[in-house]
Amino acid sequence: MESTLKRTWAEIDLDALAHNYHALRKQMGPDSRFLGVVKADAYGHGSIEASRTLEALGAEYLAVSNVEEARELRDAGITLPVLQLGLTPPDQTNVILDNQITQNVWSEPAARAFSGAAVQAGGRMKVHIKLDTGMSRLGFQCDPDHFDASLEAIARVFALPGLDIEGVFTHFAVSDESSDASRDYTLMQYERFQAMTGRLEERGLHFRIRHCANSGATVSYPQFACGMFRPGIIMYGIGHQADSLGLRPVMTLKTVIGAVKEYAPDTTVSYGRTFRAERPSRVGVLPIGYADGLHRMLSNKWRVRTSEGFAPLIGRICMDMCMIDLTDLPDVKEGDEVEVYGPHNSVNDAARLAETISYELTCAVSKRVPRIYYQNGKEISRELLLRG
Ligand SMILES: *Cc1c(COP(=O)(O)O)cnc(C)c1O
Repeated sequence: MESTLKRTWAEIDLDALAHNYHALRKQMGPDSRFLGVVKADAYGHGSIEASRTLEALGAEYLAVSNVEEARELRDAGITLPVLQLGLTPPDQTNVILDNQITQNVWSEPAARAFSGAAVQAGGRMKVHIKLDTGMSRLGFQCDPDHFDASLEAIARVFALPGLDIEGVFTHFAVSDESSDASRDYTLMQYERFQAMTGRLEERGLHFRIRHCANSGATVSYPQFACGMFRPGIIMYGIGHQADSLGLRPVMTLKTVIGAVKEYAPDTTVSYGRTFRAERPSRVGVLPIGYADGLHRMLSNKWRVRTSEGFAPLIGRICMDMCMIDLTDLPDVKEGDEVEVYGPHNSVNDAARLAETISYELTCAVSKRVPRIYYQNGKEISRELLLRG
């Protein structure tokens, strides 16, 4: 790790995570519960340290996307309830029970499979019922064509042995968008959620926890949360709504300038010769490429921040390296650190240029990039996910 450390690394600012947590708590109001979404290794930030921090701060719940991610947290000693948001093969029932994972139930066949396996194992699986109110992904469909059939199916699920039905939830498709059409759609999703849970309540089928609000709804529709918020991206201080709450990016992706070279006009740079120097040029070589998660789509588009200002990426991003133009930054030299993404060079802007979302860029920061965790301004641990 020492050699990769001096190459390219991600600094994870747990103080920024704490700052964001407190700002979000304020947004949520005093009586709400906080479920922190730490799937996909906390969107590339490192799920164990992120979860430890959230647990210490007082979050009530965590969520991941598969059984292995949940088990990682349990193996690290995290004791908070963990909701598993994704599809899970019912043959994982023993792992779910042994690790006290809360499983989402997205259909009646899935519920029957989990119920049967739990009974066989002599256990009781804690579950949250997933309602599909308009995302058209997992869940019991709540549109008018399917409403009554779903109501009956959920009622049958309540009667199954081996399941402890704790919660119910749904997921919004456009809660982070502000057009009238998107606002109408989010309201419709919320109304479908209320209609289904209301009809179940009328039959005496109760839920102890309900939750709807992803990051977009946490910012724009806190009144739809139903008692527990479920933010992901915004906890990490990124996404286009993070600024509105004064949140701070948790990840800073850094690298060093490994070499500086001078070239005559007309020299071309990198594969495909997509950049041609128009003047005598100073070019820096960075030990970061698409295998580290710097998307090749950002070739000739993105920039890094040096101590003297921004330097544009020139030529195609290679697997392990890329080049920057330092002609206008004569004081920048070999060995200097640069910020690839972070508080001074927002991953949101990079995402826009790469025609994607910030989620994808932080998730893409690869396993060969060590994560270095900072708390109270000091390094507390480091992690490299390569084998051996
Ligand atoms: C990923 C996910 C979230 C978090 O979404 P953000 O946009 O990151 O806040 C919430 N709920 C479900 C079901 C998810 O899959």
